[in-house]
Amino acid sequence: MSAHRKSSHDTALLVEAIRAGDRVALARAITLVESGKAEDQEAAQELLERLSPHTGKSIRVGISGVPGGGKSTLIDQLGVNLLAQGRKVAVLAVDPTSSRSGGSILGDKTRMGRLAAEAHAFIRPSPAGDSLGGVTKTTRETIALSEAAGYDVVLVETVGVGQSETAVANMVDVFVVVAIAGAGDELQGIKRGLLELADIIAVNKAEGDNVERANRAAMEYKTALHILAAGHPNWEPHVLTISARDNRGLDELWQKVEARHEALAKSGALSTRRADQAVAWMREIFEQRLLAAFKGGRRAARHWQDLEDKVRAGDMTPAAAAHELGQIAGVKPPK
Ligand code: GDP
Repeated sequence: MSAHRKSSHDTALLVEAIRAGDRVALARAITLVESGKAEDQEAAQELLERLSPHTGKSIRVGISGVPGGGKSTLIDQLGVNLLAQGRKVAVLAVDPTSSRSGGSILGDKTRMGRLAAEAHAFIRPSPAGDSLGGVTKTTRETIALSEAAGYDVVLVETVGVGQSETAVANMVDVFVVVAIAGAGDELQGIKRGLLELADIIAVNKAEGDNVERANRAAMEYKTALHILAAGHPNWEPHVLTISARDNRGLDELWQKVEARHEALAKSGALSTRRADQAVAWMREIFEQRLLAAFKGGRRAARHWQDLEDKVRAGDMTPAAAAHELGQIAGVKPPK
């Protein structure tokens, strides 16, 4: 068998195993997608193409919030609840502060201990990386692979730090922000930018002495969102209080997620949204590739650092330097 035929044969076997729900095969496929090696990339693309008819059928939920707010506790409990309803749950954790060598795989398994032990759950961290697409380079593909493996709920977790939450919001259907009541300033810790992405805000740790403070925080979030949402007719974010630890309010939370998903699907907005996300992703990949190819060119590489130094020193304006780079790349300036 030729090398190409052999790899095609391997891909076919992998497709079958993934479709049969083999978690080891799914993990292998994700590793292929994450690999930087050219031959792995080729195999990954073939795999994704073959699996593509089986993707898109899950509810994709982003979950973000400040560290310590209770995201992993929530995902663990919500995941267990969903499994009890007969769902299959995949959890993809995007953590810009972790790297693969940092052993985050083990970390996630211990963070979501109950879920990790379940046969119908799959937990996978996305390694950080500063190359193509940054932290979320492969998370979109991983969502697709999980769907092809039969997971009908995909939870994408991200810490509310940096750009990762925007990137995650751009690859899910419903975005949940986990908040907690602050000391005095109820909205502390949640940036306006994060609020603007939210479809649902869950104020966590609402139990015992904390219920009243959580209710007050929820009121303040409602007020803030009411102001923010003015002028956005299709955005009606929902606020509720929950206790992930005590499994309180999680059914209501999930009902809201499903209701939002259903409304999007019924109005046709879901497919438009996913189509827009796919096109934006294509553009992003292409722009990054273009930039990488340009920077990799010998002439450009020589000038790039030089021009950056000049701009930094104030010897050249950013526009003039960009213009010069454009000329090296053979790009005509806009008219
Ligand atoms: P993450 O950093 O957002 O993933 O937060 P974790 O899930 O790790 O939770 C941070 C801390 O808050 C842990 O000590 C949890 O046990 C605790 N915690 C999470 N949810 C609740 C809750 O509903 N009530 C209370 N009282 N504590 C909680």
